[in-house]
Amino acid sequence: MDLADLYRDVIVDHNRSPRNRGRLPAACRHAEGNNPLCGDRLLLDVDLDGDQIRNLRFDGSGCAISTASASLMSEAVKGRTRAEAAELFDAVHGMLTGAPADVARLGKLAALTGVAQFPARVKCASLAWHTLNAALAGDVAPVTTE
Ligand code: ZN
Repeated sequence: MDLADLYRDVIVDHNRSPRNRGRLPAACRHAEGNNPLCGDRLLLDVDLDGDQIRNLRFDGSGCAISTASASLMSEAVKGRTRAEAAELFDAVHGMLTGAPADVARLGKLAALTGVAQFPARVKCASLAWHTLNAALAGDVAPVTTE
């Protein structure tokens, strides 16, 4: 099995069995993200404990890439501080815009590295992160990738 196969398996797995899926109605932060280009819609609930992301869940409907990306994002940032989540966002954004994936920092998120070759799908993969940023910033208006 080569790396591309491994990465594909991670994406298929997270699309079929998304982690942290559902709602957290009592969470302190909520955000909605839309990617009109593909029709992806994401609802995100984030439970902050001071500066730490204690818990988060996502719901909505989207393509395989957006669902897998939201699932991978939720696993990656759960338990992290806001500053750590912002650093991960920078690393993911770099990877999606063509920088070599920093696997040591990205961990499983590196599975999305191939998306950079498909510009139309980059927004599918980045939607979860833009929505997380909105939730952490306390933005109430839905974010859109357009
Ligand atoms: Zn999509």
